[in-house]
Amino acid sequence: GTTPEELNRRKQAVLPAWISTNYERPIELVDGEGFRVRDSEGNEYLDLFGGIVTTISGHNVPEIVEAVQRQAGRIMHSSTLYLIESQVRLAEKLVELSPIRGDQKVFFVGSGSEANEAALLFATHYRRSSEIIALRGSYHGGSFGTMGITGQASWRATPRSALDVSYAMNPHPSYSPLLEGMSPERRAEACAKDLRNLIETSTAGHIAAFIAEPIQGVGGFIEHPEGYLRRVKEVLDEQGILFISDEVQTAFGRTGSAFWGVENHGVEPDMITMAKGLGNGLAIGAVMGRSEVVDSISPKLHISTFGGNHISSAGALANLEFILKNDLQKNADEVGGYLKGRLEALKEKYEAVGEVRGRGLMLAIELVGPDGSPDPAAAMRFMEACRERGVLVGKGGLRSNAIRISPPLTLTREAAGEAADVFEDALAALGA
Ligand code: PMP
Repeated sequence: GTTPEELNRRKQAVLPAWISTNYERPIELVDGEGFRVRDSEGNEYLDLFGGIVTTISGHNVPEIVEAVQRQAGRIMHSSTLYLIESQVRLAEKLVELSPIRGDQKVFFVGSGSEANEAALLFATHYRRSSEIIALRGSYHGGSFGTMGITGQASWRATPRSALDVSYAMNPHPSYSPLLEGMSPERRAEACAKDLRNLIETSTAGHIAAFIAEPIQGVGGFIEHPEGYLRRVKEVLDEQGILFISDEVQTAFGRTGSAFWGVENHGVEPDMITMAKGLGNGLAIGAVMGRSEVVDSISPKLHISTFGGNHISSAGALANLEFILKNDLQKNADEVGGYLKGRLEALKEKYEAVGEVRGRGLMLAIELVGPDGSPDPAAAMRFMEACRERGVLVGKGGLRSNAIRISPPLTLTREAAGEAADVFEDALAALGA
């Protein structure tokens, strides 16, 4: 076989220089089962990042593999010019699970960025306005439109956007330092007030939509304080502004306490965008929204060649059935609650652990220096130490010091305990 060093050399010769891999010595994952993966050298790991919050049901799940194989042996693709039964069934299933009331439609695409692009298209047409409000610290994709509503400079190609974008104040102090020290309730109130002020002072007054992630993903698993989105929704409703919930990371039981992340906040969105966990690794995304909004664009304006084709729809359906049949949401709640408790105990014991955040199996710890400031170098060393001990985690946040944990929702309590033990070892090694 090819060594990782040799493969990395070949990769660097033919793939873009800016595609960065984790770890000083990159690894190639070649197979896996459930929440465990193996690399090309036979090392086994607990997969606690799930291919960037994507393999929600786990690796090599027989029901999903069989559905994909069966479909691949018949027809993989025909396009939306023809009827696709699995696509219709998938849409029916999503609508059945939807937190949006009333008539709604699902439009399938190939990724999260495309899902958000489509949601922006529908919102701007329906409202006849190009004004969008996004949140500081947000990440909505890598296309020009979605980079243009992303609230982190490092993920934006240009400060300009095809849309007229304003950024609302984020209730979390890591994105709004002025709020440091305020109670969650005060921060929620301040940010909702600021939103009203933003609309009155910084926009042309007719906004198409407000878009937010129920828990900011790339931003470092940033949770919104209780009541924040409810207050925001009140402001939006006064003016008929649409609310788009970007659930690319938070859907399908990921947060444990709800099937859709937005349900944790008791507000009803007009549109939901999803991808990642929808296909458990297959390239599929979707926008689900009120029919009136989704159907507001004219025929021939938009099409997605791959969106919801035979292979991705068949796989996504099997994946969704697996999630529901095994009540993975409940497992995420139980195992996530246990793991969060263990992380909080580590915070008590180790100075290097700052805030512990998240719900269900979407958890993060901030790594900080002795003065409490973000410590990206420690995060890097922590990741390496975890890898050496057989655990793969992710990273994120404005300062790249948030360790992100988002395993398949099948993770057992025993494996979560194993991971927490490794985190403790890795933290002890940081100090050494
Ligand atoms: N929205 C959110 C919340 C995301 O986390 C991501 C991907 N990290 C996207 C959109 C874009 O998805 P994709 O990479 O599939 O285009």
